[in-house]
Amino acid sequence: MRYHQETEFDIEKAAKFLELPPSRLSEIIEKGNLRQNWDEYNSIYRFEGHAPQLEDGTVLIDKHGSFELVRGFPKIKRAMLLEPALKKNFNDIDSVVVEEKMNGYNVRVVDYRGQLIAFTRSGHVCPYSTERVQNFLKRDFFMDHPDIVVYGEMAGPDNPYVQKKVYGIESLDFFVFDMRYKNTGEPLNVGQRRKLSEEYGFNQVRLLGEFNVPQASEKIMEIIRELGEKGHEGVVIKDPEMVLQPIKYTCSQSNCSDLEQAFRFYNEAGRDYLFSRVVREGFQSYEWSESEEEFRERCRRLGESILSPMKGTITQVQSGERISDDFRIRVSEENVIYRFKAYLERFGLYVIIGTPERIGEDYSVEIRKINKSTNDKTLAMLEGQLWS
Ligand code: ATP
Ligand code: MG
Repeated sequence: MRYHQETEFDIEKAAKFLELPPSRLSEIIEKGNLRQNWDEYNSIYRFEGHAPQLEDGTVLIDKHGSFELVRGFPKIKRAMLLEPALKKNFNDIDSVVVEEKMNGYNVRVVDYRGQLIAFTRSGHVCPYSTERVQNFLKRDFFMDHPDIVVYGEMAGPDNPYVQKKVYGIESLDFFVFDMRYKNTGEPLNVGQRRKLSEEYGFNQVRLLGEFNVPQASEKIMEIIRELGEKGHEGVVIKDPEMVLQPIKYTCSQSNCSDLEQAFRFYNEAGRDYLFSRVVREGFQSYEWSESEEEFRERCRRLGESILSPMKGTITQVQSGERISDDFRIRVSEENVIYRFKAYLERFGLYVIIGTPERIGEDYSVEIRKINKSTNDKTLAMLEGQLWS
């Protein structure tokens, strides 16, 4: 691993901080599982792959003399059947809190050398999210609570990953759903987190209710039906004390909308991603004693979400066009557009940037991600090649 000249990473000290033998930390570094960030963030390192007892995407900040850990957001497990999952997992508590699960992308925010920075799930510093977050969160929170990491969802149409218009957001916004202490990753309880967010004027995910565990599944099914009709994603069910692990559950319409997006790029989409969404429909259909008509409607929705985007792709490629995943971003500094492009290119993506347009004080620009694999595969099929 090559370090920036000014940065002297003290393996002994870091190992002590992480409570690891120095030889173990050296091994992690040699395997490429602790990686240094680039440019002005070169005192930030992220764990990649399996690090002992640390969530994926955990970040180590070298403060030259001391260290700080910004723990990755823990994976939230999914209920396939609400009733048995709630009974089994929340058996020891009286009630659960239900919060809306917003459909955007996960970002962690901390103050770094006097400026807020936003980490993605994998622990990269995202230039776009970092610029945007300055508008969404005030720094005074981080000065008053330097030991707390804010976790939230970036949602809205001007979104590089999931573009959603259903929230009535004009461009992009940030919704706090978790706060945890640095180093230990210990969460604040739901009440404390919601109160602090309110005090500092942060947007937060909607609180949809607190229910006694025996009644919760029925209440949640009602909520899910309503959210589904509005095209929202689903819920996260939490222990108010945040001791037991939260559970997620999503609407059929949201599963199908994921499939519809993914099957446009059928040759790029992960098999597990597609398959798991189909299986969810099987379990939901079983649990929700549906009428014959509702069941037919589910079959139609699921089938259409798989076939119609694929047929669209084939038609488009046949007509000589190439498919791409297009989105817009809006920034106040034009150079963030080019920094973000360079950032995407580091991940091996091929992107084309449009001409920036002025919207008030901001710049709005279209970005196209070219999906080479699906384009090539479709062309090959159209030319009569065989699947494999
Ligand atoms: P993972 O389960 O590892 O997070 P994933 O990318 O498949 O993987 P999702 O299915 O989107 O994740 O569900 C978890 C994510 O939901 C969280 O990482 C977070 O970004 C998002 N989220 C949105 N709203 C909430 C909320 N109210 N509470 C917790 N997480 C939320
Ligand atoms: Mg998500």
